[in-house]
Amino acid sequence: MNVMDIFETMEYGPAPESATPALQWIKEHQPFGLFINNQWVAPTSGQYLESINPANGKPLAQVAAANSADVDAAVAAARAAFESWGKTPGHVRARYMYAIARHIQKHSRLLAVLESLDNGKTIRETRDLDIPLVARHFYYHAGWAQLMSSELPGYEPVGVVGQIIPWNFPLLMLAWKIAPAVAMGNTVVLKPARYTSLTALKFAEIVQEVGLPAGVVNILTGEASQVGEALVRHPDVNKIAFTGSTDVGRSIRRATAGSGKKLSLELGGKSPFVVFDDADLDSVVEGVVDAIWFNQGQVCCAGSRLLVQEDVADSLISKLRVRMEKLRLGDPLDKAVDMGAIVSPGQLKEIQRLVAQGVEEGADMWQPSWACPTEGYFFPPTLFTNVSPATTIAQVEIFGPVLVSMTFRTPAEAVALANNTRYGLAASVWSENINLALDVAPKIKAGSVWINCTNMFDASSGFGGYRESGFGREGGKEGLYEYVRPAWEAQERSKQASSTNGAATPGDKALHGTQPVLSGDDDEQANGHNVWRAGDESGFTAALPPIDRTPKMFIKGKQVRPDSGYSCDVVDPQQRVIGQVGEGNRKDVRNAVEAAHAASGWAAGTTHNRAQILYYIAENLEVRENEFARRIVQQTGRRLADAHEEVQAAISRLFSYAAWADKYEGAIHRPPLRGVVLAMNEAIGVIGMATPDEYPLLGFVSLVAPAIAMGNTVIVIPSQRSPLSATDCYQVFETSDLPDGVVNIVTGERDALCQVLADHEDVDAMWYFGSADGSKQVELASAGNMKRTWVNYGHARNWLDSEQGEGEEFLRESTQVKNIWVPYGE
Ligand code: NDP
Repeated sequence: MNVMDIFETMEYGPAPESATPALQWIKEHQPFGLFINNQWVAPTSGQYLESINPANGKPLAQVAAANSADVDAAVAAARAAFESWGKTPGHVRARYMYAIARHIQKHSRLLAVLESLDNGKTIRETRDLDIPLVARHFYYHAGWAQLMSSELPGYEPVGVVGQIIPWNFPLLMLAWKIAPAVAMGNTVVLKPARYTSLTALKFAEIVQEVGLPAGVVNILTGEASQVGEALVRHPDVNKIAFTGSTDVGRSIRRATAGSGKKLSLELGGKSPFVVFDDADLDSVVEGVVDAIWFNQGQVCCAGSRLLVQEDVADSLISKLRVRMEKLRLGDPLDKAVDMGAIVSPGQLKEIQRLVAQGVEEGADMWQPSWACPTEGYFFPPTLFTNVSPATTIAQVEIFGPVLVSMTFRTPAEAVALANNTRYGLAASVWSENINLALDVAPKIKAGSVWINCTNMFDASSGFGGYRESGFGREGGKEGLYEYVRPAWEAQERSKQASSTNGAATPGDKALHGTQPVLSGDDDEQANGHNVWRAGDESGFTAALPPIDRTPKMFIKGKQVRPDSGYSCDVVDPQQRVIGQVGEGNRKDVRNAVEAAHAASGWAAGTTHNRAQILYYIAENLEVRENEFARRIVQQTGRRLADAHEEVQAAISRLFSYAAWADKYEGAIHRPPLRGVVLAMNEAIGVIGMATPDEYPLLGFVSLVAPAIAMGNTVIVIPSQRSPLSATDCYQVFETSDLPDGVVNIVTGERDALCQVLADHEDVDAMWYFGSADGSKQVELASAGNMKRTWVNYGHARNWLDSEQGEGEEFLRESTQVKNIWVPYGE
């Protein structure tokens, strides 16, 4: 062959990377131990698992199989280390993290080769993407360790964190987990995936090299049933961070329900790749290659559903086929190879099964003419056309190099098709019309939206899902909150635990203090409020019986009778009946959810409008201050002056969220690319909430106000003990221009109604402030559609205290961050 021939055919020659240093490293460390307390220890079981090279099916290494005794030892080491690491100054933590980043760069080639050997992904990807991003994560989070005290005042680390990661980006997922956790002062026990432990073990060696204090990072290899489950259930683990399949995520949600463990889940996806007819189709083709054939499609956010505007579909599909014909698949260590091997025979079989099902269901399958290597686990790039949106291959995560394509006519149809999935991890939008792209991006329910690009990741920009793709974010400032908690929480809980009456809470003390039920004149005059005494209402004339006022439900802006036709009594602390409220049931909840969905335009309105309405609610509440204060006294037996204080605090809180409505906007990130990332705080959607017994008005307002300020619509189950402060708000809402359906209120048996709400597939998040049991039930039931939950595990907070009762914690719970990537330049 001469140079001319080469120009004609542009044939590639092999460009293999040497595996020798990595194989040598493996040989020196065989068999691998467990990494506990900065020591290599043999597994208690004495058992080892084989790690296979998926590119040739041959054994690569023996890794230790940990069991629950090893989990106990690792958690104990992490707990002991937390005592000092949690108090280590941020600057010191930053120095260690900086050292880790540097060491990753120093060992980058070894790490890249090891990752390729162990996982089957190409060296091009491990060398150019995985490992540089790993280093970037540690650098970026070294910065947050340094800045923690000034940028996250009032927060402290969570404690011991259990982290479980998948096999598709072994070292990168480790970095996404360990970097923020350790930066924030936590200690970790990490379980790598069964198939891909080697880079995690090399990382452990780096931990030793940099002299990170013993026990801060512990790594346990082994099987899910032995290590993963034990970690999830371990009583001394304060948080679980998991990336993997939605099914396992759901089981972890159930296993941790009610335990008080913090949880973040990054799960599956079926991400849309939307192409409008004005897109640059040649760029689109390269985008598709990166979206679905990157890492053999074993990417949670892979653009696996190609949605093309009808008039360019044929032309795009032909261009794609030409490109697919040119893709090179083979030895992952060959630098000229585009696609490597599938991680395991089981995963390969699953891809084959789903592809066969696609053909059976009537879609047209196309694969390039070239053959895959026969040794190892390979699957060719595959394209399905003529796919109907309801078929298995259009709905199920295949987790392989398989693209399904569908067409649409209008932008609205594109959005509807894009959102026709139970997932919501990522999306790509391709159009040369930035107006169109930026209009469509926020309408797609997904945590990341890439405009004219795809699969972009950076430590500065949070990543995570909507819906069944999980909750919580990794990366960005928002990712830090997964690893911290407000410092007041621990103080408040230890106060509660040491209180003489174990059952009492600060809220209860305020409610049933030793003060007389009603105050005398002193209180009234001191506060400048009108004097009111028990019996005043009936005292002025015995001839007139009071007018019966039985509040109904508040659904779609209307007061409606409960479906059951039953009412229940509301009693004061002396058990005297002071009123009745409707007894809500399943049907009332369903109607309320429907009304809340119908009001979704609330999120699309301006933040200025939302602020104005919140101010107006505050204004109308103040007009009725006396009435609301008396109601609090009647329900709780507290002093009138205290009740006035509560009403005033509620008014102030409404002002706070009116203020925040147009200020909690998000951020702009500048990752290392020509472009920007718009991190937008979006409403979650429909939030179901049970408001607390303590402070019946203030607790109600403190939860409803931030939720609606951020654009959510809500279904509220008010305090069962003291619901009348919430039902009195009907008229305040009606006179404050609040659109119908934004706030819906269903009274009745709190925990039963919450169960219905938490089970409801169309509710996006559940907040619960009630008992420990109720909290557990809500977390359990919410696993159905992976709702985000926020519960109090039976711990009261002091709602009067603005540190506990308002602020960013509430705003964060009311929003989810969408990162919209907008590259620029010609
Ligand atoms: P899994 O969700 O089973 O595994 C992910 C991690 O969780 C692994 O470390 C695994 O351990 C561990 N694990 C599994 N079961 C439990 C459990 N009950 N308790 C605690 N830990 C557990 O994913 P698979 O590897 O089985 O892949 C199956 C499918 O999941 C893929 O086809 C794909 O659809 C999806 N997936 C999604 C990923 C994502 O990034 N969103 C990543 C990987 C897979 P072990 O390896 O020992 O089994």
